[in-house]
Amino acid sequence: MLLEAREAEINTSDPRALALAYGSRLLLQRLGAWQAIPNVSGIREIEITQKGTPGKTTLKASELKVPEMGYVLPYTALHAALQQALHQSDIRCLYGAAVSELNTAHGCATLTYQHQGTQHQLDARLAVVADGGKLLEAAHPPQITDYGQSGLIAHVNCTQPRAGMAFEHFTPQGPMALLPYLDGYELVLTAAHDAAQEMLNWDDATFLTFLQKHFGDCGCDTLLAQPADCGSSVGAFTAIGKRSCFPLRLKRAPDLTFPHTVLIGNAAQTLHPVAGQGFNLGLRDAWELAQVILDHAPDNIGSAAMCKAYRQSRRLDRNAGIRFTDGLVRLFSNDLPLLGPMRSAALSLLDHLPLAKKFVARRMMFGANG
Ligand SMILES: Cc1cc2nc3c(=O)[nH]c(=O)nc-3n(C[C@H](O)[C@H](O)[C@H](O)COP(=O)(O)OP(=O)(O)OC[C@H]3O[C@@H](n4cnc5c(N)ncnc54)[C@H](O)[C@@H]3O)c2cc1C
Repeated sequence: MLLEAREAEINTSDPRALALAYGSRLLLQRLGAWQAIPNVSGIREIEITQKGTPGKTTLKASELKVPEMGYVLPYTALHAALQQALHQSDIRCLYGAAVSELNTAHGCATLTYQHQGTQHQLDARLAVVADGGKLLEAAHPPQITDYGQSGLIAHVNCTQPRAGMAFEHFTPQGPMALLPYLDGYELVLTAAHDAAQEMLNWDDATFLTFLQKHFGDCGCDTLLAQPADCGSSVGAFTAIGKRSCFPLRLKRAPDLTFPHTVLIGNAAQTLHPVAGQGFNLGLRDAWELAQVILDHAPDNIGSAAMCKAYRQSRRLDRNAGIRFTDGLVRLFSNDLPLLGPMRSAALSLLDHLPLAKKFVARRMMFGANG
């Protein structure tokens, strides 16, 4: 049974486009949800660069023998497709049901939830906590790494969009990504909280000029330069849609399981979006949990042995995902004098090491469990 706090079934207004890895497409296909998602843009190459230095690495789907490395799609469309798949299953869904407590006793989990102004209780052999992380926070405080950064997202247009090409650009202020989507790019730009808030208030022209300089490495010293005067891998930025901002933190639950309880998705780990891994990792949590449940007899669902099997199945992939994104942010978000040239050299070196490149790309597409 699904208890969902939101009132209506399809009411998410999240404006984001999400980057999904090729591996997630395969999982969604098996669930019958992929086919229903419209407006999907494929990522066939990812160019990784560092501001102000020449080093770069390009990951290519053709070198990895996959049709695409990933996809960019509207969050709302993904949500609707999963909702439709849920309808076709025999899972009972209760909307407007906000869980306020979760306790365990007498061999089961007891959930207390409010629905239509009344409090209810539900006993279950196994509670799967997928609430994004609030419910168990007080009882089991997560480890938090505050990067001091916010993520600003928006759709941008430019004069020379390159179909299927995504860009990951590291700057001392934080990483930025351009994900190919429809007629332009989804921008994910990270900056210190104050700077990001200030950028939200800039008029479009000031923002586009900043973006040109930030991404284009055009050598302009002033925000007064016109975007069209500056060159970048995608030409000049010409338009920007609505900007939104999210605080970025790494949040890691102290454990993935508690008696008769497992955590998945952001409730288990909330990642920095630097490599677009969060939803992908959460989907793999859900997939592997389903496998573990199938591997156990109904009487053993929620048992200590089943919880242990889930913990073990997720340990490697979870730790690798956390280390990968956290490491990228720490390594690249600074302007320490010697590190810049070393990082640049490392990017160039990686570009010439096919096996190492393949390792990085496969981790991004399929996670550490392959
Ligand atoms: C700026 C930004 C960009 C990102 N880009 C990407 C990307 O490109 N690719 C990617 O893979 N990931 C990306 N992510 C991460 C991704 O958004 C998250 O990993 C994902 O949304 C987590 O999903 P979730 O279902 O675990 O949690 P949530 O999305 O938080 O969903 C939680 C659900 O639980 C419900 N709920 C909450 N509390 C209760 C309660 N008490 N009772 C009942 N129901 C409750 C909520 O209504 C909601 O439906 C990005 C994140 C940010 C901030």
